[in-house]
Amino acid sequence: MSQSPLLPTPQQFLLEVALYKSYAHTLQDRSKIFDILFFEGSIDAHCPACKQKSVFLSIENRPTGNYGLHVGVKDWHPEHHYNSVILKSFRCSRDFSHRSHFIFNFENGRITKIGQYPSHADISVTRLDDFKKVIEPEVMQELRKAYGLFGHGVGVGSFVYLRRVIERYVVEPAYDLAKKESDWDDVAYGRSRFGEKLELLRPKLPEYLFENTNLYGVVSKGIHALSEDECKEYFPVVSEIVLHILTDLKAKKESEESRTSLRNSLNAIAGKIA
Ligand SMILES: [Zn+2]
Repeated sequence: MSQSPLLPTPQQFLLEVALYKSYAHTLQDRSKIFDILFFEGSIDAHCPACKQKSVFLSIENRPTGNYGLHVGVKDWHPEHHYNSVILKSFRCSRDFSHRSHFIFNFENGRITKIGQYPSHADISVTRLDDFKKVIEPEVMQELRKAYGLFGHGVGVGSFVYLRRVIERYVVEPAYDLAKKESDWDDVAYGRSRFGEKLELLRPKLPEYLFENTNLYGVVSKGIHALSEDECKEYFPVVSEIVLHILTDLKAKKESEESRTSLRNSLNAIAGKIA
């Protein structure tokens, strides 16, 4: 089994971690595990029913097995509670009938989120609606597939769609600009691998892609070189960055279009005066 990544925070585990991604832990992680299983705080999440961001408040942590419901961290020993399933419920602070539930499995030194309602896909897909005005319908379709697969615990598959969005709607427009330049070497570009292409196009690509070396490493790697776990780990952050990039590109395009139309109107007026 590959080395287990660091334990996420309760909020990350609830909202960002893919289903069935399992985390190993040791006795030293006791209080962190307790905080995840018995988290009683609030989470900021998109509410599909309200169709906007809301604060969800913890209402219940219901474990199976011999747990005392009000056990405190001091009396809690993970080794006594392996092979348990914990249902965690939250309610939307805007409308208490909007509920959100998560199920965790805790067994033999591993903790795994095994269920979630509304699904990650429902949360993300309705959240994607916020971007309808800035993201073209065909891009939106690919993003929905990416989020849908991620929400169902599919790592590599979800990443394939995310990478297609990056290739077609971020890299290709940059390539179209770059190849108009006189010193552009299209033969070298054609022979390059995806990571090298990103480097060649760097001046034309958003800096976000390069700011974080881990992120750049994951984006530039061939899909075949990525493990299921790596894809699941990076999907939340890469997808967020993709949404930012698409929003920025749209704003840039609109500002160029309005500048062109302004210039055309001014030219038309100048033509009339002359
Ligand atoms: Zn709500």
